[in-house]
Amino acid sequence: MGSPGAGKGTLAVELAARGVEHLSTGDLFRAEIERKTPLGGRIKTALDRGELAPDELTLGLMRKWFWGRPAGRGFVLDGFPRTLIQARCFDEWLEARNEVLSACVFLELGEEATVKRLSGRRICPWDGRVYHIEHRPPAIEETCDDCGGSLVRREDDAETVVRRRYRLYLKKSRPVAKYYRDQGLLRFYDADRRPAEIVSDLLSAYQPTPTIS
Ligand code: AMP
Repeated sequence: MGSPGAGKGTLAVELAARGVEHLSTGDLFRAEIERKTPLGGRIKTALDRGELAPDELTLGLMRKWFWGRPAGRGFVLDGFPRTLIQARCFDEWLEARNEVLSACVFLELGEEATVKRLSGRRICPWDGRVYHIEHRPPAIEETCDDCGGSLVRREDDAETVVRRRYRLYLKKSRPVAKYYRDQGLLRFYDADRRPAEIVSDLLSAYQPTPTIS
């Protein structure tokens, strides 16, 4: 979890490379929008405004994923849960399947640093790789190193939308951090550092449980 642009996606990909499934609700939503389904239309309206997708809709998609996977497999969720309602619901699902959460990793960046970071963010729409024009530039300008696709700027990375997303994050997601802190699961990281440093700090303190086949 964390504030917008704190590096959740980058970190989740690093953790997933250690043998666990990775699921990003943001990616799930963007794929739904891309498919131009009625559900995608409702999600797009919320995302374009910098708002969260409605809980019942988010929980509907996540419920499908959660109950469709084999029990006992490790996973890293990127961007879920983001509200207290989602967190409580998620706990009920875990309990029903006798599964436990190992940690809630929380990354936080200040508002001004967030605006600065997101204005330079570029995404490859084909394989999801994330770049930054200053801190993580691709070898060839505006082109993905891996697949050669043209990089894009997310519409919700525009400054006014970023500020709205940030305020919403403070209101909705901070209470979720407290919820996990009370359960002793919170690992809080200052995100104003290079992603590689955070990854190595995190991995030295915590190893995700690999998938057991
Ligand atoms: P992200 O890629 O994690 O920054 O998510 C992009 C956008 O998707 C967010 O700004 C929200 O509008 C929406 N979103 C992602 N995850 C959730 C969630 N768990 N609950 C509600 N909205 C979400």
